[in-house]
This record gives sequence, C-alpha cells and structure tokens, in this order.
Amino acid sequence: METFPIKIFESFLQDFQIEDLRNFCKSLNLFGSGSRFEVIARLYNYYSTKSKSQDPSELIHQLCKSQNCQVPRLNCICNQKFSRLQLIQCSLCRSFQHKQCIKNPNIIPYECFICQLHQMNPLEEIKEFLVPPFLCENGMQRSPHFTKNFDYSEEFRKKIQLGNGNFQIQVRCIKLEGDPYTQQWPLAGCLIINDKLAMLFQPPNINAKKRKDQPLNITTILRSDSPNNICLLQDEKIGKFICGVALIQEKSNESLIEEIKSQPGVSVDEGKVFINTILAQGDSDVVSDSIKFSIKCPITMTLVEIPVRGIRCTHIPCFNLGPYINLQRYSKVNRWKCPICKKPVNKMTIDRFVEQMIIAARTIENASQIELFSNGTFRIILDEINNSDSEQSDEEIKKRRKLKEEEEKVPDESIKMDKEIPLSSRPNKKDGKASPEIIEISD
Ligand SMILES: [Zn+2]
Ligand SMILES: [Zn+2]
Ligand SMILES: [Zn+2]
Repeated sequence: METFPIKIFESFLQDFQIEDLRNFCKSLNLFGSGSRFEVIARLYNYYSTKSKSQDPSELIHQLCKSQNCQVPRLNCICNQKFSRLQLIQCSLCRSFQHKQCIKNPNIIPYECFICQLHQMNPLEEIKEFLVPPFLCENGMQRSPHFTKNFDYSEEFRKKIQLGNGNFQIQVRCIKLEGDPYTQQWPLAGCLIINDKLAMLFQPPNINAKKRKDQPLNITTILRSDSPNNICLLQDEKIGKFICGVALIQEKSNESLIEEIKSQPGVSVDEGKVFINTILAQGDSDVVSDSIKFSIKCPITMTLVEIPVRGIRCTHIPCFNLGPYINLQRYSKVNRWKCPICKKPVNKMTIDRFVEQMIIAARTIENASQIELFSNGTFRIILDEINNSDSEQSDEEIKKRRKLKEEEEKVPDESIKMDKEIPLSSRPNKKDGKASPEIIEISD
C-alpha cells in the first residue's frame, strides 16, 4: 500500500491539541503517552499499516468523529463546518477547504480564496474584513438570503478620516477558477450596495474597450447610522465568484521596497542551485554548460538595481523592484504579473546571487548580459550600442528596444553583442583568440 511521508501526516495533525491526539490513540487501543511526535508516530504507524484509507484528510474526519471535535479551521465558501468530503489545505494560512468546492486549484501550491483576496495588491493591505468572503449568488433573482449586512461604525469612519487618504473600504471579487489573485467581476451581473446599483457588469462587446476590472472603493457611499448591505449577483451559469468587503490600508512604494529588501530572499547558494536546475532542464539532449541572461530591467531598459522575480517564476532574469512597483501603482490591468513570464508576482524575492553579479557588472560600462557557467563563474557581456548619455529619451528607449528585438531574431553566431571586456580589466590572453572574461565569485 502506498504511503505518504510522516512530515505530511504531521502537518495535517498540527492543528490538533495533544490531548485530542492522546484520546484518539486510546480509542484505537494504542498508547497515548509520550511526546507529541511519539504520539503522531504511533498514529502514523497505525495508518500506514492498518488503515484502509491513505488519504490524510480521511484521517482527520475519523479523528474529528472519534473526538467529536470540528475539523480544524475549516474555512470553506460553502460555510459547512463539517462533512465527510475530502479536504484541501491552504499552504499559507493552513485552513482547510472541501476539495469539491474548490474543484481545480488555480494556483499550486494551493492557496485559499481568502489568502488570494489578501494578496491581490501588495500596495493595498487588507487590515480586516467588514464582510468576510462569501460566495456570490447565481442567477439574477435577488433573494434576502444572499444580502450581507455590515456595520460601518463611527469608529471606522474616524479611523479613515484620520488616515490621510491611506484607508478605504473596498469590495474585492475573484473568480474561483480564474486568474489567481486577480480582481475579476462576473461577466454579467451587478453589485448592489444599500439597495442602490453600485456597478453593472456587462460582457465586453467587440466594439467596446477591454474591461478593466478593479476593486471598488465604497468608502463614501457607506452610512454609519444604520447597517449597510451588499449583494453581488451574477448572470452566469458557470464560475463561482467570491466577494468580500475589507478595510484597506495603502502602502507607499518605499515601505513595500523596504519590506522586500529586509527579507532574506534567494541566498547566493540557493541562487546557484536554482541556476543549475535551469541549466539541467535544457530542451535538447546536450546539457548546456552556460546560460546567458540580460541584466537590464525589461521595464526601464537600464541595469537592474534590485533584482527581483516572483516566488513562482522559473527563469533567471530579474526585473528591477523600484520601477516595477511604480508601474503597478499606476497600471489598471494585468497588475502584479511578471514582465518576463506573466505569472503572478504578488510575492517578490530578491536573488542575492544575481545581485552579486550585477554589482560586479555595475563597474563596467555598457554591461548588458551575463553568461553564467555551471561551475558558478560568470562573464559580463557588453552592449554593442555605445550609449554614453546618462539620460535617455523615450524615443531612444523605444529605438533600442526595437533594435534589441531585431537582434534577437538574428541567429546566434552572428550576434555581435559579445563585445569583449576592455583590455584593462581583461586577464592574460593565451593566443590571438579572445577568451571569455571570467569573474570568479568568492564564496
Ligand atoms: Zn465547502
Ligand atoms: Zn489561506
Ligand atoms: Zn516570471
């Protein structure tokens, strides 16, 4: 019988009190004494040899049933607190949902809808929910059952007024199987707040502009003398939408940058492992020994200063943290997508290995790319365009971008970008042939 690792088994039991686990052991005629790990190991042994089911979620049901306790932090959109359905656990908040209610998780490792609503916009942090995330009604017939009431207290109003515009009340909505972390209103339907139409959703027609779905700021239309209500209706047969009303605090670009800078990021050693994994993944049968990547930010076309990528990105090139955040603040669509691979980048991490190489490249004029070898050494490749002007006009940037695109179309052998490093910084050459500039990284 196939078993799962004890680590997974342990993680499924982490929300249970030791007393519950001891009692559960006793109910199975096992000893209930010893440390937490010993108790878990005993249960693991029992489940990997005697139990019919090898699904950890099945174990949790049995455990809950025998102990007459609730599934730990079951937080599902169906609002059912206990059932015999299979469960799926959020990798972030560790709450459980029913597999059946989630269907296909749109993000792996799986993150629940609450975590997705929270992380929708790193510049706007959810402080608390006024209306916890709820499932939106299917069909256009409004029923009182689906209207959510909430208070907007005087206290809240004052907090927002004192916040210098940094606070707002926002309605966020995501599609359960849609683009992860992305605001998405129903294709057709409406949002009703305090019995008035707040938004009407219509499918985009061919002549109209593409819809730009954004969270709705409802701060000014709320009342503090009587309860408020919200109702989201959708006229779609397929797709589940989850909506919530939250108090939002805006973050400055600087504080988000500082937050990311203060995190450990990808260490130099981890960065090396990451690059070697990518080198080993080459499509061809020949395992490549080196990889070239740009160290210019795809947004500013200048040398990256703080190299970041999304935690889900699987490519080496990074983008520049500061300009990227600035761009996200003002863009209305496709927010928080990686400019390189388009994956969600609501969580960014600095690659310290790439950072180290970029610091070395900064001392060399016109550095443009890095060729990295599997042994961890690298050389800096120069841009052939000699652009001594420190300030570039938009026209120039466009021109350079176009030029770069054209260059990329040229077959490899004829790329002239491999300009050599200036002689002064070049090690001894053995023959007339140019040897690549290798810069060792001290460990
Ligand atoms: Zn459910
Ligand atoms: Zn979660
Ligand atoms: Zn990416």
